[in-house]
Amino acid sequence: MVIDGSQGEGGGQILRTSLALAIITNQPLRIERIRAKRDKPGLRRQHLVAVRAAADISGGKLTGDEVGSRELEFQPQAARPGRYHFDIGSAGSTTLVLQTILPPLLLAEGHSTIELTGGTHNPFAPPADFLQQAFLPLLNRMGAKVSFDVERFGFYPAGGGKVHIEIAATGSLTPLRLVERGEIRRRLCRAIVANLPQHIGRRELATVAAALDWPEECLELRKDEGCFVGVGNVVNLEIESEHVTEVFTGFGRRGVAAEKVAGEAAAEAKRYLDAGVPVGEHLADQLLLPLALAGGGEYVTLPPSSHLRTNADIIRRFLNVRIGMDELPTGNWRIVVEGRT
Ligand code: AMP
Repeated sequence: MVIDGSQGEGGGQILRTSLALAIITNQPLRIERIRAKRDKPGLRRQHLVAVRAAADISGGKLTGDEVGSRELEFQPQAARPGRYHFDIGSAGSTTLVLQTILPPLLLAEGHSTIELTGGTHNPFAPPADFLQQAFLPLLNRMGAKVSFDVERFGFYPAGGGKVHIEIAATGSLTPLRLVERGEIRRRLCRAIVANLPQHIGRRELATVAAALDWPEECLELRKDEGCFVGVGNVVNLEIESEHVTEVFTGFGRRGVAAEKVAGEAAAEAKRYLDAGVPVGEHLADQLLLPLALAGGGEYVTLPPSSHLRTNADIIRRFLNVRIGMDELPTGNWRIVVEGRT
């Protein structure tokens, strides 16, 4: 299988989805022009860890696995469940490495225990809270048995976090249908402030409360807990509805006002709330692979992102599935995955 890493979104997701599917479908993979559309193209350290993790869990052979490499060859064997530890280093995301190895380990025959050290809250990656509350509960609803615990938080750029994942043998996934959100049951805005002035978190909570008209009881400040390593700040908006929980995140960055960080997350949540959809933008691109592996399912979401479209193109190359994307009269979109026999 030859994959052009410059297509569509041209980022790391092409690499991660391809590695996972090369193992699952047991075929040799060559990726060219890796991350061609990113500022620093090619494999960065966190991608390299994902590549080597894919090789470790599958006894695979690699060529081109170096920092900066834009071409990679991978000859996997079947996934081997077991105990693994991967250290992503300072700035890398633990959750993106997990995104690579979780699908093959999930479908393997046997239990896996994984420890990852690195960042748990990195910009442009799913934060740990998103996996715990949004993504994994849906995956588990599809028959998976995956638990994810954060032992230490690691914020960008210092990292130093630690997560522990247990994956029970699943065999196969069952299709998921998520076309309605249902009633909203709980809303929570949580500002996390690690070893930084508390006013950052208080200003973020005030910004979200004003933007979304959320009352005091929906606001929470977490600060200086033993599990926070280094300095860092994120603001999470959790929206639990009858059929799904969504999480939207603003990542604090040096030189960016707390109001701007929180304002971005609030705007993303507002778009989701106003649209009335069950699935937000990031969940939409990440749900596609489990549905394709289940051989079916559907969900309603916001207009497809370039991540979603590109992920669909990669999945279609490896799996015999039809992925349809149709605009509804409301302006929302229905994504339908059908297995072909
Ligand atoms: P890439 O940009 O190709 O490396 O892919 C990034 C991945 O991280 C995609 O699956 C995104 O949906 C996901 N992602 C980025 N930001 C967030 C966020 N705030 N919450 C959840 N997932 C995210």
